[in-house]
Formats: sequence, C-alpha cells, structure tokens
Amino acid sequence: MVLPSLLEMLLTCVNVSDLWYSGAPTLKEKKSKSIIHPFAVKSYNGLAINPYQGCGHRCAYCYATYEWSPEFYDKIYAKSNAPEVLDRQLAAWKSDTIDPVMVASATDAYQPAELRFELTRKCVQVLQKYNAPYIMFTKSAIIERDLELHRQYKHNCFVIWSITTCNEMIRRVVEPGTPPAGRMFEVIKKFTDAGVCCGVNIDPIIPLVTDTDEDLETVVRSCKEAGLRYVFGAVLRLRTDIWERMKLALRLLEIADGIEKYKQIYKFEEPRDANYVAADRKYVEKIIRNLEDRIKSYGMECGFPDYMISRRIDKSCLGQTTLHSYLV
Ligand code: SF4
Repeated sequence: MVLPSLLEMLLTCVNVSDLWYSGAPTLKEKKSKSIIHPFAVKSYNGLAINPYQGCGHRCAYCYATYEWSPEFYDKIYAKSNAPEVLDRQLAAWKSDTIDPVMVASATDAYQPAELRFELTRKCVQVLQKYNAPYIMFTKSAIIERDLELHRQYKHNCFVIWSITTCNEMIRRVVEPGTPPAGRMFEVIKKFTDAGVCCGVNIDPIIPLVTDTDEDLETVVRSCKEAGLRYVFGAVLRLRTDIWERMKLALRLLEIADGIEKYKQIYKFEEPRDANYVAADRKYVEKIIRNLEDRIKSYGMECGFPDYMISRRIDKSCLGQTTLHSYLV
C-alpha cells in the first residue's frame, strides 16, 4: 500500500500553519548552571537530567511542552556545558548514595541533535564514572551508536523506549519526528541480544487512535519478538495545550466525531482549564487490564527491574592523578 505523504494529508484537512510545529528545528547552544535535579512523577521519585531543551520528535501529545516555550518543537537548545556541570555536581554530591537518574525527563536525549552535540553520550560517561544508576528514556534509534557504552554498564542501567504505535500512518501524524516502530524494535533487539535490560513504555495509549486490541497486540507481540522482559503503558492525559494539538491530530487522522467522543471519554466541555484531565476511570481500567493481560500472556512483566535502586556514589575518580596533571 502506498501511504499518502504527510503534506498531502495536511492539505486536505488542516492548514500547515495550524500545526504544532513548523519546518526543521533550528539548533542552538546554551550554558546551564545546573543539570541534575530531583524529579517526581506518579510513582517515580528520583533524579533527572536533560541535556537538551526542546525536542525535534514533535509528538502531539508531549507532556513536556507546558513548562517551556511554544517553540519547544522548533528551537532545540543543546546545553553545551552539561557534561562538565554534571561532573561538578556529582563531585560535590553531599550524600553517600545516589538515586537512579532519569535521562531524560523533559526532552528526548537521543533526538537528532545528539548526532551533532553528543551531550547525552558524554553525560552518560559522567554518570558511569560516579557509579550512578540511570534509566534511559528514548523514542529514537540513534541510541544504537552508544550500544557498547550502555552494554558495559548493564548492571546499573535500564533502557526504555517509548513506543505508541506500529501503524506508520498514525506515527507520521502524531509523532512525525520519530523513527518508525520497526526501526526501533531492530535496535531494541540488538540491545537485548547484548544483555542490556530494556523495556517499552506504551505511553500514551491514545483513545480512538491506538487503543484497539489489534494496536495493543501488535506492539506487545513486537516487544516479545525483540526479546524484551519489561513492558508497561498508560492512557493519554489531556491538558489545554495537548488537547489543542490532539484536536488537529484527530482531524488529520479523520477520526469520525473524534472531538465529541473525546469530550465524552474525558468528560469535559470547552473551554477547558489548564490542569491535567484523565480519561474516564472505567475506560482506563479496561485498556490497562487488556494491556497487562497481553504482556503477561507473552511471559513478560509490567514493571521495572529490581536492581534499579540507589547506589553508593563512587568518587574514587577524584583522587586519581594522571600523567597529564604532572605535565601541566
Ligand atoms: S520524544 Fe518525548 S519529549 Fe520529545 S516530543 Fe515526543 S514526548 Fe515530547
């Protein structure tokens, strides 16, 4: 089947200027005073770093857009001093232990900008130097470049891909900057074959778009084929800015009565306020039960591995004197 180009779809449904992103993002550099910070969301309570600000993956449902500029998708800032600042912060770490560090919480650490700046790779090297456990989140295949780096630290890291759909048409509308799911599963297979502990987060599951039995089954089966052990997911939550982008996505995907049906699933009237709103509890329970049953039927698990815990921070690197130190 020949898929219509995204531009052909856009021209039939919406104005290109109404989209949540414009052309190719511009890349800029900036300096940061601090890189590692506490981070809590749902049941996760730990630390996070973000080597970039903004994200070229352009997901319509992105939860990270709210705190930052509307140019989130169009201007990507590389925090060019991130590895040095992280090193300094870890050298001055007050506690003997360090919680798992999420890389990254508000951007994709392996978005295309990483090919040019390599900040994620350098930050990971710093985390490894201090024995800091990390949980890598990505929707990218670029992480394949660093397979060996993560493999050598597999006792102390967990790599999670966020994959929402195996349907190419849907992906190209809803998250046009990401690689196809098939490409991500190829990379995942290389990681699992190398013994790196990996997971897939099917998040968000998008009502009327990626929530059918067939959608969930295709992703879960692909996870099994890629050798994964951990799979989990969550249903889309809406916020004012996410809703505006999702309305466009529903129109582009030609979901009949999509906007009215969303108002029923999420129980709101427009205009709606800026707070998060969850889908109807019964709908969420049904979808999550369906997902978890499938995961278990394939012999996989719905949580995190047990070894992702706080570790003793290792500062032995600070006392090392190198030949270079003698010479300068
Ligand atoms: S990859 Fe993550 S941070 Fe980037 S646009 Fe998508 S949801 Fe947002």
